[in-house]
Amino acid sequence: MPDLVTLTGVGVSPGVGAGPVVRVVDSVPEPRTGPGAGSPEEEFAAASAALEDVAADLEDRGRRAGGEAQHVLEAQAMMARDPDLAMQIQQRTQAGTNAARAAYEAFGITREMLLTLGEYFAARVTDLDDIRNRTVARLLDVPAPGIPELTEPSILVAMDLAPADTALIDKSMVLAFATQEGGPTSHTSILARNLGIPAVVGCPGVRELAPGTRVLVDGSNGKVVVDPPDDLVARLAGVDEKRRAALAAVGNAPGTTSDGHAVPLLANIGGPEDVAKAVENGAEGVGLFRSELLFLDRTDAPSEDEQHGLYRQVLEGFSGKKVVVRTLDAGADKPLPFLPFGEEPNPAMGVRGLRICMQAPDIMHTQLTALARAAEGLDTELWVMAPMVADVYEARWFREACRKAGLKAKIGTMVEIPAAALRAEHLGAVAEFFSIGSNDLTQYTFAADRQIGAVARLQDAWQPAILDLVAATTEGGAANGIPTGVCGEAAADPALACVLVGLGVNTLSMSAGALPGVRAALAAHTLDDCKQAAHAARSAVDAEVAKAAARACLPALEELGL
Ligand code: PEP
Ligand code: MG
Repeated sequence: MPDLVTLTGVGVSPGVGAGPVVRVVDSVPEPRTGPGAGSPEEEFAAASAALEDVAADLEDRGRRAGGEAQHVLEAQAMMARDPDLAMQIQQRTQAGTNAARAAYEAFGITREMLLTLGEYFAARVTDLDDIRNRTVARLLDVPAPGIPELTEPSILVAMDLAPADTALIDKSMVLAFATQEGGPTSHTSILARNLGIPAVVGCPGVRELAPGTRVLVDGSNGKVVVDPPDDLVARLAGVDEKRRAALAAVGNAPGTTSDGHAVPLLANIGGPEDVAKAVENGAEGVGLFRSELLFLDRTDAPSEDEQHGLYRQVLEGFSGKKVVVRTLDAGADKPLPFLPFGEEPNPAMGVRGLRICMQAPDIMHTQLTALARAAEGLDTELWVMAPMVADVYEARWFREACRKAGLKAKIGTMVEIPAAALRAEHLGAVAEFFSIGSNDLTQYTFAADRQIGAVARLQDAWQPAILDLVAATTEGGAANGIPTGVCGEAAADPALACVLVGLGVNTLSMSAGALPGVRAALAAHTLDDCKQAAHAARSAVDAEVAKAAARACLPALEELGL
């Protein structure tokens, strides 16, 4: 179909939807500078009242939506009530600026700060912009941004959708949505997955689509097709139907190939708030608890007691199961304001991951002690691993640190640096398990920064070089009788998950939403199918050929729409 106009973004919530475009109002006019009608005190009072109204409205929407959306909206309401923000506004109204302009400028300062804090915080900028727009709209008395009244089932198109809008989406009227901005870790994407609405984000060109244009949003492949022919819509809808049926059929059964080779399927989590979703999706434990998320938005390190409380909540959520906690993995795209390391010209290669803790051992000791206490008296199996281990010296250092803290846990090593994979046999003599961080392993193997879109082609775990390193790791692990898991994004791709199992990987860990697809893919193939797919992929010359060759060995994927 050569004439089809197709826009490409990132598919963040699988499924397809086709219908007319409705544009979301996403801007309010920039307020003029200069004084307002009232005194500085009256202008400040007006801004404070508008912020409070916005916060209360967000909380109200949260109560109506419930679940994870309530969490997100309550966090947004807290941003609206931030005392620093109020202070910034007051400084401006005192200096004679009108309320709307003062609020607008004060939000700008917080926005700049979030943007400099790295990937995780930059994703919160959308939330902040939404609060600013709602506040300014109130103060200027213009319509608030948001989703217009829908009169027929539609496709929402926006610059970016605010969580406040996403949370209250009427699923019978919104067939799918596509946004120009946003990434897979934005709240909008998280909520879309929760709601089960097909979504594509980061899709240049969608904002130019005229209202009423018929489009098809393919959230599985990250495509938006303009004026799609009926047969294409029918075909993709059929594939989606099959996918849903396949996922429903396998339910929440433990991960296994069709011939009974068990592959425990675990969840990646960031804190206690992710436990429920993991359990709901049948996670057989946690394969990666990104503990650094507890440290990121703070000006000082969390105390031992505070950490203990959070770890305890997570461990209690997986009674009788395994929880793999990764120790603090900060630096590079996750800077910590309280660490004494200055600017680095190339932070991905600087003091990050375990290297930070080797230079600031007290931070690690506090964390390990909190973990040891948290596991006391519980029947949850605690496993602890260090990120970014480069060699045997570092693996030994970590093992020693765990022992000093009195940790009764299996002590493992993440394999995210090619040197570690190549020397897995030696590392395996020190570690009790391996967990491959395929995101970083790919970044370091291809010298391609994971944050830079221009080198995204190389950020692909289907690259045969990565598969070789996975094989080297599982072989090194097997030689020492220790298991190897994968906890990077590679494990979440149903086809690649089968290949990883064929390469000898023992467990797979992924975000909770990806568990059903991987479970269904494994259940439809034998271990031998997986081994053949792995062999075919490793024999390929590049990522594209590897993927096609592997999929040819895994025919049920096509049938299942995976
Ligand atoms: C990885 O690198 O694959 C990984 C799991 O760790 P993170 O994505 O948190 O760096
Ligand atoms: Mg990593």
